[in-house]
Amino acid sequence: MAGTARFGMLCEMAKDFYEVLGLKKGASAEEVKKAYRQLSKELHPDKHKGDKDAERKFKEVNEAYEVLSNPKKKQMYDQYGVGGNGPQGGGGNGFGGFDFSSFSGGDMSGFSDIFESFFGGSAQGGRRGAVADDAGADREVSITVPFMDVVKGATKIISVRKLAPCERCEGTGAEGGAALITCTECGGTGQVTRSTASFFGTIQQRYVCSKCRGSGKVPEKPCKKCDGEGRVQQTVELTIGIPAGLHDGQTLRMRGLGDAGRRKAPAGDLYVTVRVTPHPEFVRDGDDVRSVKKISVLDALLGAEVSVETVHDSMMLKVPEGTQPQQVFRIRGQGMPVLSSSKMGDHYVTVQVEIPTKLSREERRIVEEWRKLKTL
Ligand SMILES: [Zn+2]
Ligand SMILES: [Zn+2]
Repeated sequence: MAGTARFGMLCEMAKDFYEVLGLKKGASAEEVKKAYRQLSKELHPDKHKGDKDAERKFKEVNEAYEVLSNPKKKQMYDQYGVGGNGPQGGGGNGFGGFDFSSFSGGDMSGFSDIFESFFGGSAQGGRRGAVADDAGADREVSITVPFMDVVKGATKIISVRKLAPCERCEGTGAEGGAALITCTECGGTGQVTRSTASFFGTIQQRYVCSKCRGSGKVPEKPCKKCDGEGRVQQTVELTIGIPAGLHDGQTLRMRGLGDAGRRKAPAGDLYVTVRVTPHPEFVRDGDDVRSVKKISVLDALLGAEVSVETVHDSMMLKVPEGTQPQQVFRIRGQGMPVLSSSKMGDHYVTVQVEIPTKLSREERRIVEEWRKLKTL
């Protein structure tokens, strides 16, 4: 880079903006800011009076920062790269042949993904290359379900207020089946090229056409209901599958069930956080369940079979002779279903021994006898 002759500069213009800032492609806004601060300090013209190379680099850095510090421009750049005549212009990220119709929108298309869940993971972006502004936003909702729903799994119908495809125009944004005509702004290419005169020559940059938002087509007559957006705010009923074993506070990600995209652009995702109401009898402990069983002092002394409720069934538990208060018994495989597996946790029963507060005369006589026996 050092010692590059001036005539080489135009070519260098197409240099990757990230590279200019010494960053990896797609670096975060924070990293961009940091790198810019550092470099602009180092390369500041006050420090390098008359040094053409430094001056050029300083300009480059500023140029790169101007694009990468602007979220919209950055996103555009990340997706389409710099256009123009530069040797690296566009790269494989070219805009040509971009076809919105291949995204069959997705109001209800997320249905098969219904059980997909992410736990503590990050919500992967994955916008499939749509123009950012057009893609539907992600939405978040929270629902509360009874404890038993996460034991057996359940299906819930929820109402969500969100942008959904316009029924009048079927999401196309065109009124009464009006044809889509070629956008006059960009001539149907979906992009406009702007030239900017600069210190080192003309810089050409390609932008997504603001009129057709990159589709190259606009409705001849915009739909009256959605004003050509192809989507409107409405309350939509969605069916949500609650997987067995789901934990309180976990979130389900449902692809394509967020806001609809503009004119059939990809929809956002819906994140459903599920709260589980506590059960009066069962306490969840990871994948295990705990409960308390009261038994009589005689059953504790002599042993017995007592009936115990688990989340699945009622069963007989053998309490051996000499069972102690607060003794815990495990019933294998009778706990919660383990999420995304066929395993089951265990059920733990804590025994509470009930000591009678009143004895009949007869009982008292017997127990007195017993005491005498013990003290002999
Ligand atoms: Zn419409
Ligand atoms: Zn256009």
